Amino acid sequence: MKKIYLDHNATTPLDPMILEAMLPYYRDVFGNASSVHEFGRLARKGIDEARAKVASLLGAKDVDEVVFTGSGTESDNFAIKGAADNLKAKGNHIITSSIEHHAVLNTCKFLEQNGYKVTYLKTDKFGIVDLNELKDSITDKTILISIMYANNEIGTIEPVSDISKIAKEKDVLFHTDAVQATGKVPMNASKLGADLISLSAHKFYGPKGVGALFIKKGVKLTRLLHGGHHEKNRRGGTENVAGIVGLGKAAELASKNMSESQTRIKALRDKLHNGITENIKHTYLNGHPENRLCNTVNISFEYLEGESIILNLDMEGVGVSTGSACTSGSLEPSHVLTSMGVSPVRAQGSIRFSLGKDNNEEDIDYVIKALPPIIDRLRKMSPLYKG
Ligand SMILES: *Cc1c(COP(=O)(O)O)cnc(C)c1O
Repeated sequence: MKKIYLDHNATTPLDPMILEAMLPYYRDVFGNASSVHEFGRLARKGIDEARAKVASLLGAKDVDEVVFTGSGTESDNFAIKGAADNLKAKGNHIITSSIEHHAVLNTCKFLEQNGYKVTYLKTDKFGIVDLNELKDSITDKTILISIMYANNEIGTIEPVSDISKIAKEKDVLFHTDAVQATGKVPMNASKLGADLISLSAHKFYGPKGVGALFIKKGVKLTRLLHGGHHEKNRRGGTENVAGIVGLGKAAELASKNMSESQTRIKALRDKLHNGITENIKHTYLNGHPENRLCNTVNISFEYLEGESIILNLDMEGVGVSTGSACTSGSLEPSHVLTSMGVSPVRAQGSIRFSLGKDNNEEDIDYVIKALPPIIDRLRKMSPLYKG
């Protein structure tokens, strides 16, 4: 049976070229990068080169602005908890949005239990945060604004440049979770002016379990992992050298291939979108019609549960997701869709298709053909559907 992977926002396959770049660091270059002998120096060299590549992808001015971490989740935790603790004498107020990834939302929830106040900005119907509400929320106690670069469920790209300007005017730190944007949207950290940027290797064809946090020169964070003097004394722990080399290679390939591969993927995404909405009734796009990631299309199939569509597509060899990690047993609708004002019925029937560089026209044709009979069959069984 054909196997078609359309869940690249959950994770991407490891690019064989990236695997090749990593293998020597498992086979031969095993040294501890902190060791002074040649074994250590070779590992250090691998890390240094990777740091330069990530800095270049991000448009960082100084390579030391890049700190390697163990995941996108860790980068978000480090940025938010690190800033909150470091600035606790200045204030205790944080502003974020209600559509963030749980790595940000649950970190903010944790801080709320520890004396911090958090404002969760609502968004418009396309998932874009309201800049006026942002401005109005800032007080003299505000220490951090954390708004994602692009949303993982709907792909909507936030007005991060405007947010960065507002933050700067008010002398508030700005963190952006760019885990989904990295490798898909050209980025320039210095131009953007963000203080903190999170990214993760496995969302753009690198290995799992390695991420990075851009920390603008001069920005101070309380460290998350206490230990040795690794990462310029910002994160303890012997470096995951092969993983870091993989992240570096992912950054290099993304810099080189981004514009070409994104144009191709966008065309496939639009073909899929049109193929679905033209052939299946009661379908609606979730997210911004233009201003969104070139690989993401989130569609509500009204009167249905997303889970049952996933299971049926899975039986046809197609991997997609609802875009929300559903809490075991209960079918909670996505927090992203509900805070955009999508009705619970529509939110429950939503499916996120997220494409990648290895998808082709055939894959899309297959899905466009497989879906209508599935939806038809499920709707006939749905108590909500009246024909
Ligand atoms: C995947 C993801 C994360 C978490 O990254 P991990 O490396 O899987 O921990 C954080 N934010 C967003 C927007 C994501 O898509």
